[in-house]
Amino acid sequence: MTDTMPLVLVIEDEPQIHRFLKVALTSNGYRLLTALNGQDGLIQAATQQPAVIILDLGLPDMDGLEVTRRLREWSTTPLIVLSARGQEQDKIDALDAGANDYLTKPFGVGELMARMRVALRLAARAAAGTATPTFTVGGLHVDLAQRRVERDGQEVQLTPREYGLLTVLVRYAGRVVTHQQLLREAWGPGYTEESHYLRVYMGHLRRKLESDPARPRYLLTEPGVGYRLVDE
Ligand code: CA
Repeated sequence: MTDTMPLVLVIEDEPQIHRFLKVALTSNGYRLLTALNGQDGLIQAATQQPAVIILDLGLPDMDGLEVTRRLREWSTTPLIVLSARGQEQDKIDALDAGANDYLTKPFGVGELMARMRVALRLAARAAAGTATPTFTVGGLHVDLAQRRVERDGQEVQLTPREYGLLTVLVRYAGRVVTHQQLLREAWGPGYTEESHYLRVYMGHLRRKLESDPARPRYLLTEPGVGYRLVDE
């Protein structure tokens, strides 16, 4: 029974956050491993093969970004970083270094569990080997094989650029994608500074896909960092 509970490695030095994560994760069916510094975290990540890693960016012995980079040299385990409010650049750097998601302290149990579900789905998709050819959330349906997008059962016509942007978000569904990642993957490597393109095209997508574009249900803004297509 316990072997089927997902193993989570928490790399974090603050006792308060530690206690919170321990209670929240174990009471929600996760097993927990803890490391109090980056070095120990890297060793445990290599030897214990956790299903998900939660990494604080402020560690006593090494920068969390450095831990992220080193992990990504050999590991594809879903990685959620923890950072303080106002450290948007740290989050962006961590995502660009290979982290999959982030939580801003202080965060609640609900938010933590939502991120954990996304991370486990990501791990399951990676283990299955192939990306799913269709994506559905609420009334939004995207069929990547047919290049067809529907909202509440009605086909929606997107321009090639709008569709390209949407497919990048679908590929990272549930996770935050930085402005740079979106621009690089939807426009190309020469466009990573053109964040006004994103605002314009995200506006187009919201008008076509959201019932209330001013209060989006699917295409969320992550202030200062990027965008997230919700997947539940
Ligand atoms: Ca810390």
